[in-house]
Amino acid sequence: MEASRVEEPLRGRGGSPSSPPLTFTLDAYAARSCPVKTLHALTHPSERAPSGLSFPGAAEFTAGAFATITAAEGTVDLRGLSHSSSEAEEAACLAALNAGAPVIVGGLLPRDWDGHRRSRVELLIRTTDGYLPGVVKFQRALDPRRDDREFVYSPVTELGAPRTTTGWRYRWNWRWANAVQLAHQWELLRATGFATARPTGVVIGTDLIDHCGLVATWLDLTEPALSPTTEGADPSALVSALERYHLQFAERVDIAERALTGAEPPEGLLPPIVTSECRYCEWWSTCRPLLDDDDLSLRVSKSPLSRLEVSGLRAAGVHTVAQLADADIDELLPRYLPLVAYRQGAEDRLRLTQRRSRLLVDGLELARLTEGPIPLPTSAVEIDIDIETSREDRVYLWGFWVRADGAEYYRHFSSFTDLDDAGELELAVAAMSWLAELAAQADIRVYHYSDYELVRIARLAASGHPGMTWASDFARDHFVDLFEIVRTHYFGANGLGLKVVAQSAAGFHWRDNEPGGLNSMGWFDTAVHADDPEERSVAQQRVLWYNEDDVRATAQLRDWLRQQS
Ligand code: SF4
Repeated sequence: MEASRVEEPLRGRGGSPSSPPLTFTLDAYAARSCPVKTLHALTHPSERAPSGLSFPGAAEFTAGAFATITAAEGTVDLRGLSHSSSEAEEAACLAALNAGAPVIVGGLLPRDWDGHRRSRVELLIRTTDGYLPGVVKFQRALDPRRDDREFVYSPVTELGAPRTTTGWRYRWNWRWANAVQLAHQWELLRATGFATARPTGVVIGTDLIDHCGLVATWLDLTEPALSPTTEGADPSALVSALERYHLQFAERVDIAERALTGAEPPEGLLPPIVTSECRYCEWWSTCRPLLDDDDLSLRVSKSPLSRLEVSGLRAAGVHTVAQLADADIDELLPRYLPLVAYRQGAEDRLRLTQRRSRLLVDGLELARLTEGPIPLPTSAVEIDIDIETSREDRVYLWGFWVRADGAEYYRHFSSFTDLDDAGELELAVAAMSWLAELAAQADIRVYHYSDYELVRIARLAASGHPGMTWASDFARDHFVDLFEIVRTHYFGANGLGLKVVAQSAAGFHWRDNEPGGLNSMGWFDTAVHADDPEERSVAQQRVLWYNEDDVRATAQLRDWLRQQS
């Protein structure tokens, strides 16, 4: 919802006599994002190239959440002012704060020139002792937990009224960046004098709990919940989101000040370090030429080392895959480990990355870990299974590749509709009834890749339906997980996912140019919801071909495994 992501520093005149004559502000994304973005925004502003990436369903989710929030009595929605001057927007936000609006949507807080902060805040929520910031994210923000630790939340219809329950926890490890963003916004709020006494923020994710519908999770930004990221830190001494924010924000401010004064960037900032953030970064075309083709962070994509680990390796003299493949790890460790001591398992991760590097240097995708034939159960009828799920987490397609009596064919059970509990169960029962009929006539085994199908069958069996109970019992003795077999016998330069292994080892090729579970969710959405019947039909066929290729791939992989000696 930020009108412009404030990795882009904003330059302007200071607002107070004590301010330096030329200053800048950074937005709430700066501290949570790659630090090189702050540099590029000042040194290569014209090279910014929109990535065009969007997450299907995200716009609908956030629109729905804001519709609910703005429908609540007293909510002040300032999003319509986003084309006004910054001064007008800031004045409107201040007026709403002064008026005590229960919730302010899309307010632009007054810039803090001295603190170098600015931010448009999705939600400003009034509590009993001041306002706190909130964000809406199209992502799972919570995990279930079994202990009785208190969980603080509020329904989106009553954002300022916290409640407590148990059984849930915020996903600090995965969603720490939201908390860092909120820390920036809370600090900016504090500069206005309206912030809560205790640094707090809320995250509205896609989670539904306790029949409340969407909820806002309250985060104590001073809770020690995050791993430290500083050189020499004790990995067990957790830090708060506020502490991490201040550290990372200070680094971005330093980068901006150097860029504005023509000084060299901080040591270690360049060349850039490739992370998952680069996949959708607007500066990729600026960063890529700065990287060696053999750069470690560029080439190792499976379980990649973190930005700080790569930085530590570079400081120890290792920059490329070839250098790491060649390195004497025992000799390297005394120089490397002190730099990444905050990171648990740093040595194991380094050794694993070296194994991957050696495969990459040799141009190999897989390394065999064992010798001899690979045991793989056989049967008269062999069936490969693969299921597809929607974004709503419904299994809408059960696909099978059947080999019997020298013939083979694809069979599927699908429903290209928005399924509810009953519809999903009905489809699963139809698929399992067909399987039960086959099992009654012949000796069969069912092959799958990873335990996903087993998990979904077990979940559906919890309904108590006899057809699913049979399937769950049958799976226990007659399903074979090919992934477990592959994992026992191989190590992969790029992991052991079905796409990697079936293509590189077994020579299988998917008909679709972009095969992938996430993509298939988008195709399913189109197949169900597109206005154009032709578009729906094409998307449906695409899903079916993709699923058929998945089960044919496991069949071909099975053949290949049996040929190994
Ligand atoms: S492409 Fe990657 S390294 Fe470069 S600015 Fe973006 S996130 Fe940072």
